[in-house]
Amino acid sequence: MPTILVVEDEKDILDLVSFNMQKEDYEVLRATDGNEGLSLALKHIPDLIVLDLMLPGRDGFEVFKGLRDDARTRHTPVLMLTAKAEVTDRIAGLKLGADDYVAKPFSPRELVLRVKALLRRANKVAPGTKIEAGPFYLDKSTFKSYLNSEEMELTTTEFKLLSTLLEANGEPVKRASLLRDIWGYTDMVHTRTLDTHVKRLREKLGDEARWIQTIRGVGYSLAVDPSKAP
Ligand code: CA
Repeated sequence: MPTILVVEDEKDILDLVSFNMQKEDYEVLRATDGNEGLSLALKHIPDLIVLDLMLPGRDGFEVFKGLRDDARTRHTPVLMLTAKAEVTDRIAGLKLGADDYVAKPFSPRELVLRVKALLRRANKVAPGTKIEAGPFYLDKSTFKSYLNSEEMELTTTEFKLLSTLLEANGEPVKRASLLRDIWGYTDMVHTRTLDTHVKRLREKLGDEARWIQTIRGVGYSLAVDPSKAP
């Protein structure tokens, strides 16, 4: 039974989220401020964290940084709750590496779908699977990734994005299938999620980002020149 930590200072929303998680038979931990949220997360290592951005004490951004700074929670999926009006908050949350976000007011159904997709993704990784291509080396059992033998600091989402593209072996991967497989989007909603993550992944790859091709109107592909193999 997965454990979900919900960090939210608004009682009504905390209750709503908790109720819907319990309905799915998830075990729920609750925190009403950022400090409590971070300490519960590090104490219990939940399977997923629903994290509100605007919190008393430490805000959601700071809690998130604290989670990513600790090896035990570095790969814990984080779903951010953001105010609908604050688009910049959402973009900032994604830039920081949150795995997904839901804007308030949200439908409980959508929240549950997002949580399920993130949990599924976290569990889907086959143990012991390694990907080697050109300058890339990814170990799917440990989420460790290397670029030219240097370890990379990728978030789980970036790791999944890179491994999906590498596994397609140069074949174009459609936007819709990336959004479905990585984020659980089932319809073609307009979202900047994918582009924001690709942009950040490219930044982390530096010169080697040249292998990721944008295919306008289709998606992305990643073909490594075999002569580049280490
Ligand atoms: Ca709040």
